[in-house]
Amino acid sequence: MSFVPIVFGKKDWDKEYEQSAQYNSLYCPNCHNYSVRPVKRREFIAFWFIPLFPIFFGKQLVCPVCNWRQDFKNEEQLQKVVREQANIQQGKVGS
Ligand SMILES: [Zn+2]
Repeated sequence: MSFVPIVFGKKDWDKEYEQSAQYNSLYCPNCHNYSVRPVKRREFIAFWFIPLFPIFFGKQLVCPVCNWRQDFKNEEQLQKVVREQANIQQGKVGS
């Protein structure tokens, strides 16, 4: 009897966010580097590395240093984060 393994897995992409130039170098609350950037996230259930079913479509802030991620819904929410970041950088928060 021959056994053919059927491989299901997860495939994901991080696509560059359109206006990433103004949003790069955001503060990471996990590893404290200024390396966070917004991405468009796509996750699929894959069969033999062929993506079949989408399981997640959304926008996330991603830290490439420690792999910290946080979802954000829209431009407004991203702008709010950027404003809070500016406060952190100027030492107005947490001192
Ligand atoms: Zn980090």
